[in-house]
Amino acid sequence: MIETMRPDVLGCHQCALRSQAHQVVFGEGNAMARLVFIGEGPGMEEDRQGRPFVGAAGQLLDKMLAAIGMTRFEHVYILNVVKCRPPQNRTPLPEEVASCLPHLKRQLDILDPLIIVLLGATPTRTLLDPQVRITQARGRWVYRDNRWWMPTFHPAALLRRPEWKRSVWSDLKLVLDKYRQLIDPDHDSPYYPVHR
Ligand code: SF4
Repeated sequence: MIETMRPDVLGCHQCALRSQAHQVVFGEGNAMARLVFIGEGPGMEEDRQGRPFVGAAGQLLDKMLAAIGMTRFEHVYILNVVKCRPPQNRTPLPEEVASCLPHLKRQLDILDPLIIVLLGATPTRTLLDPQVRITQARGRWVYRDNRWWMPTFHPAALLRRPEWKRSVWSDLKLVLDKYRQLIDPDHDSPYYPVHR
């Protein structure tokens, strides 16, 4: 169970991010889910509450999930690349990502997802290809390590660039197709119903 590793992660001081953050944000969702969403790191609200994706971008993520008929505690597990908030929400440094990566890899080993949605450049570069540009990688499946990986834009980017929402909806429909193919053929969604 993923909860068995929570105390280790919450007690981590492996990098400098911990000294400026209020707390470590472990992740949350359904521990049995085979669909995982991965973001970059906690923001101010996440740092305050100790939960992932609970600020404005998190509310948008919840809406994105609702559009494909999902909720965070039933259908998915939500993680971040780094578990402590980078100051001023800057992009985590390579050494911070490297320090935190063993936590993320262990979480993925335990959750063993079939489908992973990578939210933005940082998780995509960390887990798929360090050189990748998210504008080119998004919307294309990568099959690796017995998992299907889908890069897309981070919800925080959509708050700045609402014109990207159409692309993300297109990516989410691909995720939903894959979910029905691999996990639950009857999974329904309000805006993208099952084709019978
Ligand atoms: S960001 Fe990760 S590696 Fe750094 S202190 Fe927090 S949990 Fe540990």
